[in-house]
Amino acid sequence: MASAAPTSIFPLTSPATGKELSAVEATAKGDIASILTRAREAQAKWAAVTPERRARDVSRLKKKILQRAEELGQLIHDETGKPEAEALLGEVLASADVVAYWAEIAPEELEPLEAELDSLSYPKKRAWIHREARGVIALVMPWNFPFALPLRTIIPALIAGNAVVLKPSEITPRTGAIIADLFKDVVPEGLVSVVQGGGDVGGALIDADIDFVVFTGSTTTGKKVAHACAERLLPCVVELGGKDAAIVLADADLDRAANGIVWGAMMNAGQNCGAVERVYAVKSIADQLSAKIVAAAKALRFGEDVGPLTTKMQHETVQKHLAAAKEAGAEILTGGNAIESEKSKTGWEPTVVKIDDDACPLIADETFGPVVPITAVADVEEAIKRANASRYGLTASIWTQDVDAAEKLAHRLKAGVVTINNHSFTGAIPSMPWGGVGESGWGFTGSPLALDHLTRPRVIVIDRNRAARETWWYPYTPTLKRLALTFALLRGGAKSFGGRIGAFFALLGILPKRMGELKSGKPSD
Ligand code: NAD
Repeated sequence: MASAAPTSIFPLTSPATGKELSAVEATAKGDIASILTRAREAQAKWAAVTPERRARDVSRLKKKILQRAEELGQLIHDETGKPEAEALLGEVLASADVVAYWAEIAPEELEPLEAELDSLSYPKKRAWIHREARGVIALVMPWNFPFALPLRTIIPALIAGNAVVLKPSEITPRTGAIIADLFKDVVPEGLVSVVQGGGDVGGALIDADIDFVVFTGSTTTGKKVAHACAERLLPCVVELGGKDAAIVLADADLDRAANGIVWGAMMNAGQNCGAVERVYAVKSIADQLSAKIVAAAKALRFGEDVGPLTTKMQHETVQKHLAAAKEAGAEILTGGNAIESEKSKTGWEPTVVKIDDDACPLIADETFGPVVPITAVADVEEAIKRANASRYGLTASIWTQDVDAAEKLAHRLKAGVVTINNHSFTGAIPSMPWGGVGESGWGFTGSPLALDHLTRPRVIVIDRNRAARETWWYPYTPTLKRLALTFALLRGGAKSFGGRIGAFFALLGILPKRMGELKSGKPSD
């Protein structure tokens, strides 16, 4: 689709390697309507195919992903700067597993469920709850996991009978484009399309003829998207930012906690909605834990373990948050400086900060950088109180050897996922729901529960009753009223057992009278 729109919104050099990236053509907003028309036509035919067949077709994607693993890992690395090993494990292999999971479980999950119907009250009737496809689903996605995040929704959405239109981030348009390419020859044409551009194109897509929105991105944009959807009563899922707390208790295995927290904070250079962005450690072990975290952070190699930040804006945010924290009295235990090389201008040293100020942006706002802020707390109660004080609530972790006690504490945390002795690794696992509370958004992806978003229930009732009238139809008569009151006594309203027996015998007299009324269509008294 030729477009006059400028292509300059797409980065043309890799943040990781400084290498030149291919040019990308933006989608003209005027072209969105025809893309959606094609998607709708393709969806109508696709929805008529059985879920088994849809699952079989989509399952072919797994092989395509695995065959092109190296190319995909390289592209994700080039566009985001994350280490290739991380891209391969966290995005490429994880997405192949997502395909296998849904292809296996979705057909059964999509089967119609027979609803319970009391045969006395509703004679000769049966009802089924079907999961109908939503139709055309718009996905507006961020740049931090440009491959895995779209696919975690596209795959179940397709098997559920939908078409999808993906708007990748303007920072990672090439990974978005390759997703559509992978689906060629896997599903019918038009079923998976990509529109390229910035927030204006995302906004235009949401305003267009779509049936559902899955948005993943910042809380600021998520609110705008939710607002635009509310105006149209368009259902949506908004998966937003996070400020995960890791709570470390006195009996924790400190080596494991330190290594786990450093991975949880530095993975993808901290540009992860489920990154550890706050550590609350009880004071008896806080210094010892800090020393271990510092040692683990110092051992990380720039480029191999932790890549540069993906955008200049992220680099500036990290800089600003650290400057404000220092101003407020925080102590930088290691790191704290930018790393500049010939290849990359957005590197940042893995940084560990000692801080005791929850109002600081480093603790209150999403930093999205390779920074571990550690706060010593008096006890577990203070840790929980401070962890829950955030406006975000995506995931959290508790580090302790007393897992039974931790399980009880987990229920008190404001978070969609709580991990005991690990942190936030479940985002890529398709059998588990992923979603947060508070300003981390609403709705979830992953697990059969996600089908509640990607489909809508349609009830179909079949009535084989050949009587001229149902008990509750006209005419309304004193007999019908007596019948209703007798049922009230029988269903628990009677004061005594005797009252219930009396109601039962009364029913034997009332029922034939009502049957007579229904037959004749005339009141009996
Ligand atoms: P962002 O909000 O800037 O952009 C996300 C997407 O929205 C992009 O495709 C962008 O072009 C589009 N967009 C921007 N303005 C829009 C508008 N008015 N209408 C429609 N679309 C619009 O987010 P980002 O910087 O790309 O991603 C980082 C954020 O994503 C972080 O806050 C992170 O925590 C969050 N995130 C959350 C999850 C989760 O599962 N909860 C996962 C990954 C990332």
